[in-house]
Amino acid sequence: MSLIPTDDLIVRLRSRGLSRVALQFPAGLKREAWPVASALREAGFEVVISGDPCYGACDLDRDALALAEVLVHFGHAPVEERENVIYETVRSVIDVGALAAALPLLSGRSLGLVTTVQHVHQIDEMAAFLEEQGFRVSVAPGDGRAPLCGQVLGCNFQAARSTGAEEILYVGTGLFHPIGVQLATKARVIALDPYTGAAEEVDASRLIRRRFAVMEKARDAESIGIIVSTKSGQQRLDLARRLVLLSERAVLVTMREVCPDELLNLGFDCYVNTACPRLAYDDQVRFPAPVLSPAEFEIICGIRSFDDYIIDEFLS
Ligand code: SAH
Ligand code: SF4
Repeated sequence: MSLIPTDDLIVRLRSRGLSRVALQFPAGLKREAWPVASALREAGFEVVISGDPCYGACDLDRDALALAEVLVHFGHAPVEERENVIYETVRSVIDVGALAAALPLLSGRSLGLVTTVQHVHQIDEMAAFLEEQGFRVSVAPGDGRAPLCGQVLGCNFQAARSTGAEEILYVGTGLFHPIGVQLATKARVIALDPYTGAAEEVDASRLIRRRFAVMEKARDAESIGIIVSTKSGQQRLDLARRLVLLSERAVLVTMREVCPDELLNLGFDCYVNTACPRLAYDDQVRFPAPVLSPAEFEIICGIRSFDDYIIDEFLS
């Protein structure tokens, strides 16, 4: 049995007259691939599963799509509309009462509310709960990259910025998104994990200190690889071309998977990442050389000031 409902998907595929289907799942949902595939096979579809890594809707498997008539991408909202791609977000249901754990940490009565894609279907319910507790809640639309109201991505905090709030509650797991929200908005940010009930005020200063140490290491680099992603929704060629002009020691490097082994093989002293922004912030410890964000590279090139440090985003 699939945990992901397939009946409605089957109706939609049939109504479009489609018979060959490619399926793509992020790591956390890959175990659903077989149950979903088996339901579709029983319904008479030819099915191919993408077995490559998938991190977001920025990462559509065009090779698997080439073998089918449509790609069904599970778990993420679109970062861009694409022909022949169906996006099936997968809902996680939380007990909205869990938000009570964040209330003692809120300093004012007015706040912005953001979450990640799997919880966005409950954002109105969350806002209503907070309003019942006497808060004024602002939920704002994202942009084309994060199209759902109140939705943030690791590469897009527009829904937080658009609330205009001085205090923001992030509901979801992990601390990357709320730290990103803080850097992008300068607001006070409280993170609530709806599964454990753990609530905390986030502090971006540790991340910033780590990043400044990485920038220092990169300063004397003799060779600089400017990484350009070949993933469907991670390519920022114009940005990469602008960055390569900042240093005679820099050259463009295309990569699909940005992995430590390949960075080691290439042997550059430093890399600048224009692919998924989280690679530099989350994965530096795995990399054999400093991997800078675009703004960090501008700082070490002297065309941006330290005070103007910004978190890297894909804004549409
Ligand atoms: N879409 C999610 C993030 C998923 S996990 C969000 O909005 O937050 C993000 C991680 O995916 C990165 O830290 C990195 O480990 C991995 N990743 C993303 N793009 C990648 C790429 N081009 N190559 C290798 N790993 C990548
Ligand atoms: Fe997530 Fe990175 Fe893709 Fe943005 S670029 S959607 S953070 S995997």
